[in-house]
Amino acid sequence: MATIFTKIINGELPAYKVAETDDYLAFLDINPNAKGHTLCIPKEEENKIFDLDEETYLGLMKFSRNVAKAIEKVVPCQRIGMSVIGLEVPHVHVHLIPLRTMEDARFTSKDKLSDSEFRELANAISEAYKG
Ligand code: AMP
Repeated sequence: MATIFTKIINGELPAYKVAETDDYLAFLDINPNAKGHTLCIPKEEENKIFDLDEETYLGLMKFSRNVAKAIEKVVPCQRIGMSVIGLEVPHVHVHLIPLRTMEDARFTSKDKLSDSEFRELANAISEAYKG
């Protein structure tokens, strides 16, 4: 069965998209640790990151780096943190999280954003990504 992230790729579920290539997609995490928390995924459906073939894995890292640089231009923070967990959604995703304190990296306290705040943020990161 298709993962929820494959459904987002196929346009069957909505997402606040920030960047896309032929092989990768980035969109805002719906339950963010901090404003700007973004997920980068390969369009290829794979469960665990280290099961990706090397080319797809390295491409995901390059894509994530480009997206992180765009987030950093838009969201005030000390730096962009990166995590890979995948215990909830079995489709490889890199968490990019704007960090101000260690708390932002802990996946315990969450930020609430309205639909319009998500939209504005996604648009701003998308513009920064396009450069
Ligand atoms: P994990 O698999 O533990 O790395 O966590 C999955 C992440 O995906 C969580 O941070 C969720 O908030 C996020 N998430 C789940 N469903 C969606 C969705 N439909 N759109 C955006 N983010 C999602």
